[in-house]
This record gives sequence, C-alpha cells and structure tokens, in this order.
Amino acid sequence: MTKVIILGSGAAPGVPAIAKGWGACNPNNEKNRRKRIGTYIQIGSQKILIDTSPDLRAQLLENNIKHIDAVLYTHAHADHLHGIDDLREFNRLTKKPIDIYGSSHSIEQIKTRFSYLICHGECADKGIFKASLDAHVLGFDEDFYLNDVKINLLELSGHLVPSNGYLFNDGEIVYISDCREICDKALAKIKRRPKLLILPLTTINSNYAKCSHMGLDKVLEYVNVIGPELAVINHMAVECDYDEVNSLTPSNVVPAYDNMVIEF
Ligand SMILES: [Zn+2]
Ligand SMILES: [Zn+2]
Repeated sequence: MTKVIILGSGAAPGVPAIAKGWGACNPNNEKNRRKRIGTYIQIGSQKILIDTSPDLRAQLLENNIKHIDAVLYTHAHADHLHGIDDLREFNRLTKKPIDIYGSSHSIEQIKTRFSYLICHGECADKGIFKASLDAHVLGFDEDFYLNDVKINLLELSGHLVPSNGYLFNDGEIVYISDCREICDKALAKIKRRPKLLILPLTTINSNYAKCSHMGLDKVLEYVNVIGPELAVINHMAVECDYDEVNSLTPSNVVPAYDNMVIEF
C-alpha cells in the first residue's frame, strides 16, 4: 500500500499571504487555503517526510502523523526547511535520532544554519529540548534504499539554489521540487509509467526567461513527457486559484490542496 498526503500545497508566502492576501484565489474555496510545502509518503512500512516547512507542526497535528523513518530534503530554501525544529517531537516519541537526507548542498546548509540539531552519535533521550538529527549526503549517481524502497535523487536546474527531486522505486512516484527544468539525466532515470507525479507550479504564467520556477505550460509539457497515471500540482502561490488551475489541466492532472490523500 502506498499513501501520499499533501501536507502543504502553497509556495513560500502561503495562501492567504501577508502582502498579497488571497490574490487571484477565491477565499470561499477552502482548497485555496494553503500552508507551505510538504509531503508525507508511506510506501509499505516506510514513512517518509519530504521537506520540513515552517508550518510543519500544524501539518503533523492535522494529519495525526506521529512516526517517520526519514526526512528527504529537496533544497535549502526556508519554505522547505525552516520547520526543522519541529522534528524534535519525533525524537521525543522514539528517543532516537532521525535520519535526514539530501544533496551535499542541502546537508551543508542544514549543518551550517542548524548546527545545534545535528547529533554526533549521542542518543536523543536526555531530555528533548531540540531535535536530534543524523545527516546523510546522497549522491546523484547512486541508488539509495530505505528498507526495500529504492530512492534516487533527480537532477533539476534553474532554481535559485541547487534543488533536486526524488524518484521512488524507479518511478512509482516521481517528486519534482522547485526548478525551471528537469534535467535529461533525471528523465532517463524514470523506468516505468509513474502512478503519481508531483510537480511545483508557483504561478500559472511565468516569464520563463527571468523566472526560477516553471509556469503551467512547462508543467504540462513535462506531464506529457513523463506520462503518469496521475499528476498533482503543488507549491501554488496566490496567483493560482484552485478552480482556474483545474480548468486549465487535463483530467489526469489535478491541483493539490492541503491534506489531500492519494492512495494506490
Ligand atoms: Zn519553494
Ligand atoms: Zn525554492
């Protein structure tokens, strides 16, 4: 059994945003109320968190998530990372360090900004006042396993900092994070028709020459290339009204909303 929960479907400012309010989003549609980005993936017995947004506490409470086996980071932007301190609640429950994984750039940034959270072999049960994290660097050219779940890093380009996606079981799930392009090397790693492809949008129209994110045209281009059974679009800013995005996409491509559950 595979279960995916969209913990947060919003871009960095969330929806409503402090500066722009609801923007183009209909405030009467609850699906437009978006926390910052985050995803929970359970494949078999493995429970995996992708990114730790500043809204992590609320996301875990709302979905009653009390255990994870690992955290996978996509990049070191604050909307994907700065809820990291809330991981201490898992330490509190398990009395063990938590394994976190990411590219060399992401792990280096985490160790620099949150050095007090990284454990060096000590156990986490001495009165939990901070998270206790065991940090691991993943390379792009190696397979990595969490029990029997095969995971690969996916090369992405054009974002403001190095960003990567994740491939689960050769393509059962393809997770793309903030980027302008999915590299050919990443596309070549997808060996099967994905059950689920998750892609970020940010704004429907992007000035491709200047922007560090894909617009909807580019997102749909990649959906065509990858050909998943279902594609879910997340990381949407106030420019992306749920119904509008839904009306612009084919039936196997749907906008995400907070606490959306996908099972297969
Ligand atoms: Zn982001
Ligand atoms: Zn970003």
